[in-house]
Parts: sequence; structure tokens; C-alpha cells
Amino acid sequence: MAHKGNELTIKADKTVSIADCLTQFKTPEKLSAEDVWRCPACKHFVEATKQIELYRVPPILIVSLNRFKHQNLAKVTDMVRCPEAGVLDLTDFIISKDEKCIYDLIGVVNHYEAVHGGHYKANVKNHE
Ligand SMILES: [Zn+2]
Repeated sequence: MAHKGNELTIKADKTVSIADCLTQFKTPEKLSAEDVWRCPACKHFVEATKQIELYRVPPILIVSLNRFKHQNLAKVTDMVRCPEAGVLDLTDFIISKDEKCIYDLIGVVNHYEAVHGGHYKANVKNHE
């Protein structure tokens, strides 16, 4: 990471897309032994799997990416690429297939530098 005047650059470990993030977000996750689930039928605590899915989405969507590793509070330095032409198509990620689900990218806020400090820099679309 470098900070020169108003220019902030990020050194990325690898590059992923928003679609990669959403695919990982909806991937089933086996809960740990310390995080068992109570079955409503038999009332026993059992190991379980959880999965997050999107049924509907709002007209204005804010995507917040988890930028810190829970184990050691290290920063995730992967570069997340926005879709080409600033258009995010979530149609394949929504369970109800009633309509197309396409968003225009309006802005991005990036955090630079360390976990316990640093800077935020916003890039916002200018409609003029
Ligand atoms: Zn049960």
C-alpha cells in the first residue's frame, strides 16, 4: 500500500469479482461443533449446515464486503473487481426469477491501510 498526496493505491494479493463474492456468500457452510442448531422437531442439538439465499432485493442495493479475517483481524487485501460498464446483474443470484435484477454502480468506498486506522476514499458517479 502506498500513500502519495491524494493518490492511494492498493497492493492486492489476488483479484476476485463481485460475482465470486456472491457465490461464496451463498455457498452452504457447515456449522462448527460449538455452533450447533436445535432441531425444532426433536429438540436435540445437532450439527447443521446453513445457507444464505436472496429471495428479493431492494431498488437500491449497498454491498458491504467483509474486509477483515475473523481469526487474527488481518485485513483481506484481495482486489474486488466491479463489473464491466458498472452494471451488476444479480438475476442468477435471486431465488425468485420473476424479473431481471440489474443494478447500475453509483459509487465505491475503499478502506486503505491498517485494520485499526487508515483512510476511506469514495469514488462516486457524476451524473452531469
Ligand atoms: Zn430432530
